[in-house]
Amino acid sequence: MTARRYTEPRLLLATHNPGKVAEFERLLAPTGVALDGLGELPAPAETGATFLDNARIKARAAVAATGRPALADDSGLTVRGLDGAPGVESARWAGPEQDFAHAMQRVHDALERRFDGFAEADRACAFLAVLVLAWPDGHEEVAEGRLEGTIAWPPRGAGGFGYDAMVVPESDDRTCAELSPEEKGAISHRGRAARALIARCWPETAGG
Ligand code: IMP
Repeated sequence: MTARRYTEPRLLLATHNPGKVAEFERLLAPTGVALDGLGELPAPAETGATFLDNARIKARAAVAATGRPALADDSGLTVRGLDGAPGVESARWAGPEQDFAHAMQRVHDALERRFDGFAEADRACAFLAVLVLAWPDGHEEVAEGRLEGTIAWPPRGAGGFGYDAMVVPESDDRTCAELSPEEKGAISHRGRAARALIARCWPETAGG
């Protein structure tokens, strides 16, 4: 199916998280598109079974509320030795306080329990990101990105967020929380997904 170009100067980003708006401004900078956050609009419940389902729920809700095209993302950590958990539950594992020291401990403890200790565990993991750009006429462009890595323990590094301090990308010895934002952006699941989306929807700026 041929990709649809995005030709408008502004794009609605279906998130209330100012950090996410800033990150996507950086990732989509080559396109020159200006991003708007959701503002007062309510966020839908993320009830999907997959990252794609959840990204689509968020994008479609924003389109329905505004009549404008909207971009949404969903992402998380999948651990092979935990059959893909925490997956779409990545944020929920951090509890109502969004405490990621706790969430990382849960990943560690689950691996330790399931295997003969943490050192014996299958610690292969990946960050996954799915982007959905949805138009009011029902058209969608979907892009995915992965960052493959290994779960490390104890967590290391002061940068990043979420599970960054326990994920060592396959291309490095450091955890994601020990990388600079530029280093992380170059290899990250969101960076890769954004470049794939740019190639489809802003092809004249791709590859730069
Ligand atoms: P959402 O995409 O905003 O729903 O976030 C999903 C969850 O995955 C959040 O709990 C994030 O902390 C976690 N997550 C997604 N991407 C990353 C990342 O690049 N580093 C660390 N944690 C991440």
